[in-house]
Amino acid sequence: MTVKDKVVIITGASSGIGAATSKLLAKNGAKLILGARREDRLQELSAQIKEDGGQVFYKKTDVADKDQVKALADLALEKFGRIDVLYNNAGTMPQGNLRDLDFDKWKQTLDVNILGVLNGIGAVLSTMEKQSDGLIIATDSVAGHVVYPASAVYNGSKFAVRAIMEGLRQEDKDYGIRSTIVSPGAVRTELINSIGNKDVEDSVRPLFEASDESGLSLSADDVARAVLYAVDQPKHVAVSEVLIRPTKQVV
Ligand code: NDP
Repeated sequence: MTVKDKVVIITGASSGIGAATSKLLAKNGAKLILGARREDRLQELSAQIKEDGGQVFYKKTDVADKDQVKALADLALEKFGRIDVLYNNAGTMPQGNLRDLDFDKWKQTLDVNILGVLNGIGAVLSTMEKQSDGLIIATDSVAGHVVYPASAVYNGSKFAVRAIMEGLRQEDKDYGIRSTIVSPGAVRTELINSIGNKDVEDSVRPLFEASDESGLSLSADDVARAVLYAVDQPKHVAVSEVLIRPTKQVV
């Protein structure tokens, strides 16, 4: 295992995939810096990780604000002296047709899902280049490969993340930087709460309430293992993408 003692920043750590990954990486000996807006959730998760013997600090962070993301990266340097991995995981999934003209939803989606990822890259890149070593991971999505109705903006944001992370790989490979996207299909998390459209919410609710046995959706732990796989590789192995679907997902 190469995870032990790696300094890992995780955004969107307060629930779902981010929280599950935090627990799994801590169990494998990573030193964690956690960010999200819900501080009470971060506090609770950190207390649990510490109780299990893990090393963790957290900071209330809105990824749409570049100064807050920079402060999260600075916390990693202050507490642990380096940054081995940034996991840009925070995201939101407002849904609706373009003809709804919901400019606020569009802006929120792009601010969190795209700018949030860029703010993360911007906060760690010079440190990683100085180290000649670093791994940046983003939670992308199957929605970054295919387009669904009532989801153009969310899909667009995830297509953009895929492009940005591939650009990062090409531009920074010679600086020892690796770039990974983890692209899940349906995962049972609190993401359903961000949809904000009753028809879409009703149509996907069965997936978000399904069991492992149904094969219709993944648990957050299933995705966490894919992140662990990428973090666990030696420096010469760059896992560019892991695409992970529940067995019975069609598209
Ligand atoms: P959750 O809703 O459980 O988690 C989303 C996380 O993002 C929360 O921790 C939330 O924390 C954080 N977040 C949202 N907005 C911001 C913000 N402005 N600043 C900082 N943190 C923010 O859902 P998931 O675990 O499913 O989502 C994680 C990622 O997985 C997202 O990028 C999502 O797009 C992606 N994904 C999810 C799939 C699914 O089916 N669930 C499928 C494919 C991809 P807080 O509210 O405390 O800030």
